Amino acid sequence: MGYRVTLIPGDGIGPEVTEAARRVGEATGVSLEWDVVDAGERAIARDRTPLPPSVLDSIRRNRVALKGPITTPIGGGFRSVNVTLRQELDLFASVRPARAIAGEGTRYPETDLIVVREATEGLYSGVEHWVDRAHTAAETVNVITRFASDRIVRFAFELARRQKRSHVTAVHKANIMKTTGALFQGVFREISALYPDIRSDERLIDNMCMQLVKKPDEYDVIVTTNLMGDILSDLCAGLAGGLGVAPGALFGEQLAVFEPVHGSAPKYAGQDRADPVAEILSLELLLRHLGEAEAAERVYRAVWETIAEKKVVTYDLALPGYTDRPVPPSRCSEMAAEISRKVPLIDLEKPRPRWRPAS
Ligand code: NAD
Repeated sequence: MGYRVTLIPGDGIGPEVTEAARRVGEATGVSLEWDVVDAGERAIARDRTPLPPSVLDSIRRNRVALKGPITTPIGGGFRSVNVTLRQELDLFASVRPARAIAGEGTRYPETDLIVVREATEGLYSGVEHWVDRAHTAAETVNVITRFASDRIVRFAFELARRQKRSHVTAVHKANIMKTTGALFQGVFREISALYPDIRSDERLIDNMCMQLVKKPDEYDVIVTTNLMGDILSDLCAGLAGGLGVAPGALFGEQLAVFEPVHGSAPKYAGQDRADPVAEILSLELLLRHLGEAEAAERVYRAVWETIAEKKVVTYDLALPGYTDRPVPPSRCSEMAAEISRKVPLIDLEKPRPRWRPAS
């Protein structure tokens, strides 16, 4: 059976890393028919808007999309395409797994966490204004609703159950934010009582940052609000090996968009240097969503083997901090070719590779 999937190449390194993922997708043998649409800078140049309606239509039609990163101007310019996309399509759950691969590039080689972030409201609601004409004061409204909090907390517990994970931690700042924080906390307490099989607890955001850096292995699934989740998922990406290897997914009731945690890394745009792994692992999550578990597993293991071998890896994975055996960096396209070459050769009869300490 063929699948029609929306593909948004995006800005900066986006076209290179999405092309890499497309190539790996082909190697799986799954029939993926790409409906390529532009958002971001290319769309502005052609349609004078960063998010043409045709992009939303394509995702609504196909129900699944693979997306590259999109640049957002800082402190002015157009509204974030990423935030608008999530709100327009009601992609309320941002799921960002932080999995260390082959023990490389991390002080925590066994990291295996998932950040579940509410993606439609909170401090990213877009409700903000200058208080005075001189622009000496400004306000951003933190919109938290019972509906969205209930939906994201249930999503986190259901995901934990599906993936046989045993522990969900809510992260908030209810001691200071006594309305918004307390509402999210209260909903978490109500919903967690419905899942007695899963351990639940809470952490204040500041403490959580410290806890994660000291002992990430004590956490499993983390559920939180929009801005806190955005920050925590980058922190967790760092624990697992960096932005170059951190995939992500956005889920609505009917639609799903897969995209890496990283941004458009403009300084590497067009140089064929960026690490394609985060986008390739986003494709892995997409394949799992489509029910193509075997193809997804091949992609995951091909990435693992490529990183473990340290022969064909991009600059970020070749640096001394990443590996104790630095190697000359390969190009983005070379790494994609190596992963694609490995995909059909993976022996799924063998147990999934696990990192083990050197004896
Ligand atoms: P960034 O993720 O683009 O870059 C942060 C650092 O990580 C840079 O040093 C970059 O070179 C490096 N990096 C990122 N991805 C890499 C990869 N695949 N391989 C190797 N190195 C990589 O974050 P930023 O610089 O804060 O943001 C740049 C732009 O991206 C901004 O306009 C921002 O708004 C946008 N952004 C978009 C998304 C998205 O589309 N979902 C997410 C985050 C940031």
